[in-house]
Amino acid sequence: MQQDAKPATFDCNLGHACQFCPQEDTCALDKPNHNRRLIEARLEAIDQIIIVLANKGGVGKSTVSANLAAGLATRGFRVGMADADIHGPNQSRFFGFAGAHTRTSATGLQTHDFEAKGIAEPLRVGSLAFLLADDTVPIVWRDAYKHDFIHHLIGSFDWGPLDFLVIDMPPGTGNELITLCDMLEGANVSSVLVTTPQAVAQMDSLKAGRFCRERGLPVIGAVENMAGVVCPHCAGEFHVFPEAGLTEALDALDIPRIAQIPLAPELAVGSDKGAPVVTAQPEGLAAKAFGPLVDAVAALGQAEFGGAVARSLEDVFGKNLADDEMTAALDALPEDARAAMAEEIGALLDGEAARVQGATQTRDAP
Ligand code: ADP
Repeated sequence: MQQDAKPATFDCNLGHACQFCPQEDTCALDKPNHNRRLIEARLEAIDQIIIVLANKGGVGKSTVSANLAAGLATRGFRVGMADADIHGPNQSRFFGFAGAHTRTSATGLQTHDFEAKGIAEPLRVGSLAFLLADDTVPIVWRDAYKHDFIHHLIGSFDWGPLDFLVIDMPPGTGNELITLCDMLEGANVSSVLVTTPQAVAQMDSLKAGRFCRERGLPVIGAVENMAGVVCPHCAGEFHVFPEAGLTEALDALDIPRIAQIPLAPELAVGSDKGAPVVTAQPEGLAAKAFGPLVDAVAALGQAEFGGAVARSLEDVFGKNLADDEMTAALDALPEDARAAMAEEIGALLDGEAARVQGATQTRDAP
């Protein structure tokens, strides 16, 4: 018997699935157990999962997902963006990582982390695009491969602890969506539907709404994308797509319409440039239109709200302590008083962050 043989229940504790491991062929450990444990561990560290779906391509799922994720990040939440659109993984581009690749590490496949003004915690992006040679490679996979990838997306990427993981779904209510819903049984999962106003898009999006109802997947609401255009010259408003009774159709399914996003050139430009409008032009009309959607989803995260506020405060106060005026004020003090004063201000700010978090937890207590 080999001296170093390990029992099959021993886990290597690596953060990625066996398929990414150079030892896969020779490893004698319990691989199904390892892969199952990976997914369980990731899901335990994620507070809320938001699935963005439409059943139809081109209606703006990826655009809405990216701006929702970035909007949540501007509220101080820790956010991940999982790109499940296997045939059109665009989130890498929407966050400025086109052509980037991922590395395998002991903690899993590395995400690419989006940083922007107004975001305290970098937004973690995971996408199949990071595993491809380049953006132009078509994916020609049968269902078994897609099933595995959906598991890798959640289990193998190193998401870390998150308040929200936003998942950008491909069109359709088939393999990817069913695989994901099966895998997420028991987790805190909700969905957001995206549609455009015209009948043909609604028909498809509302099928996705029915799918959610049948699966018992809560629907936070529907986003009406490309809902009118504001003329940049005269500020007059007009509609490109015919209004085809969306309000009545949503009412019939008891799904609230939570946001109307205009057809706006800055949205298309922002996506191509890798700068979501909610962070690049937060005061613009398009960015503001995402506000009600971000509010509705953020409301789910109230339990984590205290943590988010405390992290925001820490960030603001940390920056204040480091800012020029504060540094100049501290420099003006006698040398022996400077360190003590900086420490005292730090303690005051920490106390304030803890007080806010405590108050919020008390408010949220049952
Ligand atoms: P989907 O994920 O549903 O296939 P995308 O979000 O990729 O759709 O959007 C398709 C294209 O339309 C992208 O080029 C995107 O930038 C653009 N787009 C989406 N929504 C808008 C909008 N409201 N205004 C302008 N362009 C938009």
